[in-house]
Amino acid sequence: MCHPRQAEDTKTFTVKGIGTEKEKAMTMRSHIARSQKTSIQAPLSTVPLSQSALAQAAVRDRPNARVLIIGAGINGIATFRDLALQGVDVTIVDRGDYVSGASAASSHMIHGGVRYLENGEFRLVQESVEERNSLIKIAPHYVKPLKTTVPIFSTFSGIVAAPLRFLTHRQGVHTERGALLIKVGLMLYDSFSRDGGTVPRHEFRGRKESLRQLPELNDHLKYTATYFDASMHDPERLALDVLRDGLDAGPHARSANYIEAVGMDAEGVHLRNTVTGETFAFAADVVVNTSGPWTDVTNDALGQRSSFMGGTKGSHIVLDHPGLLAATGGREIFFEHEDGRIVLIYPLDGRVLVGTTDLEHDMSQPIRCTEEEVDYFFELVAYVFPRVAVDRSHIVFRFAGVRPLPNHDDEQPGFVSRDYRIESRPIGARPGFILSLVGGKWTTFRALAEHLSNDVLALLGAQRRVSTVGLAIGGGRNFPTTDAEHQVWVVAHGEEVGQKRAGQLLARYGTRASDVIEFLGEEPDAPLSNNAAYTRREIELLAQTEFVVHLSDVVLRRTSIAFKGGMTMALLGELADVLAPILGWSASDRASEVDSIVATLRDDHSVVLPKAQPVIRKGPIAPTPSLSAA
Ligand SMILES: Cc1cc2nc3c(=O)[nH]c(=O)nc-3n(C[C@H](O)[C@H](O)[C@H](O)COP(=O)(O)OP(=O)(O)OC[C@H]3O[C@@H](n4cnc5c(N)ncnc54)[C@H](O)[C@@H]3O)c2cc1C
Repeated sequence: MCHPRQAEDTKTFTVKGIGTEKEKAMTMRSHIARSQKTSIQAPLSTVPLSQSALAQAAVRDRPNARVLIIGAGINGIATFRDLALQGVDVTIVDRGDYVSGASAASSHMIHGGVRYLENGEFRLVQESVEERNSLIKIAPHYVKPLKTTVPIFSTFSGIVAAPLRFLTHRQGVHTERGALLIKVGLMLYDSFSRDGGTVPRHEFRGRKESLRQLPELNDHLKYTATYFDASMHDPERLALDVLRDGLDAGPHARSANYIEAVGMDAEGVHLRNTVTGETFAFAADVVVNTSGPWTDVTNDALGQRSSFMGGTKGSHIVLDHPGLLAATGGREIFFEHEDGRIVLIYPLDGRVLVGTTDLEHDMSQPIRCTEEEVDYFFELVAYVFPRVAVDRSHIVFRFAGVRPLPNHDDEQPGFVSRDYRIESRPIGARPGFILSLVGGKWTTFRALAEHLSNDVLALLGAQRRVSTVGLAIGGGRNFPTTDAEHQVWVVAHGEEVGQKRAGQLLARYGTRASDVIEFLGEEPDAPLSNNAAYTRREIELLAQTEFVVHLSDVVLRRTSIAFKGGMTMALLGELADVLAPILGWSASDRASEVDSIVATLRDDHSVVLPKAQPVIRKGPIAPTPSLSAA
């Protein structure tokens, strides 16, 4: 994590990979001079130049690169990192914040994809388990092994089916999967996924032992099968780490959020700054379209009509429910609905995540978790844990996203392949190629990026210099993996902030926490009045070094406060107060930032904060947010 530095006449922050401080200030001056029609109107001496504005200016002031990546979800970002490490002149843009699309809506699983075996997708399973095993090592700060238990009700023809459709699957026809079939499937999965024996074999348990281990399970079950996958604790922060690694490769790697690709002609791709409204042409030899479920929409905007995609919507709820948390026994409870939809219930940071659905979606419509989906989740939780009462008062957050799946005609959503492919076409309007990514999960982002990058390198006639296999990501470098190593780290870094806080920051940022601790110690610091888990300087650091543009970026992606149900009006006000001077917000900017995130939390996440309550700058903790039951 880089530290902010102020220039004499302007407030500029170090942006890795974007030239010297002097160059950056000059760049920004020319940007301001040329954008009188933009919202930056204040005298130069008072213009607060946020890190994101500098990054946007750097893209606009050299509007060309060998490769332009459109879409900074995990797959675009990972491809950016890979190409940056090869020394390729590459720029990535996103029309919104980093990782705000499908990548922000996942079930937080890094999984081998046991169920893909049935469809004969051996390549995908092989790649997924290898990547899962690797991510546990290269990103150990965010990716952790997860014990996964499948309840098996094999003698019932009820609503819940076994998770594996091995051998018997016929398109659209539900076939009961018995324990034997699941056993065979998991033996096959073991043969793929054991990483030379470091991942334990699956276990199969009868009813009595299953209920001894997990007493709240439905006692009609016959067996449980248990195996290991992995969970991803903070996907947004992991993606930022991948991005930072790309930027650290050098000034040939540039990135900017809030820049949208809106068209293309002989001059290049037309990019529009969604904050200022400014538009400019950006020339690249290869354009990579990684805009996830919006891939066709982006291609259409570029005059490259395509119909590659057929994304399906999936939703989740986050529950604050100690009883359900205890019932999971720290495991993921995983099964498959008879129509192929995956259902999971699992503990995440003291909350329980329940998902997901798989519904056809019209991309022109809002992407939200509906009341019907909530009812469906409750029905399934009640089936698996019949003695644990769950209702809407336990929900602290809802979220939904559209999977960037391939066009699948009549195939049922749950059965559509989760594998990815790359479509390549000449640009037409100018020399060069446009590559469109179709598909791609979180789990396989590194391998996918390597494939996409190889295709780009081939088009550029360039060679791979660096392999990303086994290359640690961000705060996963030298991350302490044993209790003893953890203790050594915490003691070594606890002098300034205390050992407890050092441990908290290590969990939050990986070994990048040492930079955070150094920054916190440079000036007096204090916990936020409305959330003692964060300090004022920590939020300042996020604002200065993590391309924050809006309050929502901090609330939804740089921190997981809202995800865990911790957001209040008082906290929003306090966060806005910390961000305002750094991001150059006027009083009215600040007020509209607060209004905007209040609306987003209400509309997209069903978190209703009291509307009329004035924003309190410092004071008592506001009541827990309630959820709309409408
Ligand atoms: C409900 C659900 C559950 C899932 N669970 C899992 C899981 O447990 N494990 C797993 O491995 N995978 C899971 N996935 C899949 C995984 O999350 C996605 O496949 C993956 O995140 C896609 O990443 P991406 O970078 O391709 O797309 P996205 O993350 O959608 O990124 C695309 C980006 O493009 C930007 N964009 C769009 N148009 C433009 C434009 N014109 N100009 C500039 N930018 C643009 C968007 O703002 C967006 O940020 C799940 C997905 C969903 C929806």
